[in-house]
Amino acid sequence: MPEALKRIIDMIHYLPGIGEKTAAKLAFFLLKANKTYVANFAKALSDLHEKVRECEVCHGMTDVEHPTCPICSDVRRDDTMICVVEDYLDMLSIDRTGVFRGRYHVLGGVISPIQWTTPDKLNYDSLFARILENPSISEIILAMNPNIEGEATALYAIGHMPREVRISRLSKWLPHAGSIEYADEITLLSAFKGRG
Ligand SMILES: [Zn+2]
Repeated sequence: MPEALKRIIDMIHYLPGIGEKTAAKLAFFLLKANKTYVANFAKALSDLHEKVRECEVCHGMTDVEHPTCPICSDVRRDDTMICVVEDYLDMLSIDRTGVFRGRYHVLGGVISPIQWTTPDKLNYDSLFARILENPSISEIILAMNPNIEGEATALYAIGHMPREVRISRLSKWLPHAGSIEYADEITLLSAFKGRG
């Protein structure tokens, strides 16, 4: 097999959820595809790290020229609620439903002793600082995934809240969905409406 083809197969195979056969199929597709498409694809890939940065407020993703993401910059959003999520994809899944119009905070993972993820590696400090600095915040919604790590992550937040604030949780509504990312819209809607 040509070296360049083998290299691209290996690169694609490295992606999560992509087996060797699928990787080979996709690599072959790219080889046969329109050259402009492939050039644009390569450019988009190389731009990814240079044009995307973390939002200074919520730790979601934003264009490199904007320090805060569209959600944090939106003045029509409800400032009294912060929905705390594990990662940016969860934030997107929830926001897509339109059920929640408050602010978000991305922790950047879960507490996991097996993966050496301790609380200091997550964005708790900036969350607690936001809560202290903004007296208008009255509710924190913990939208962790329904598993042991999600539970530990939520409990740490509850145990370290810097001031009195209403804390609500979604997890008990989500077990059937398995995770926020894969929950359907109706499950997420009822998870938010029935939070407690
Ligand atoms: Zn943001």
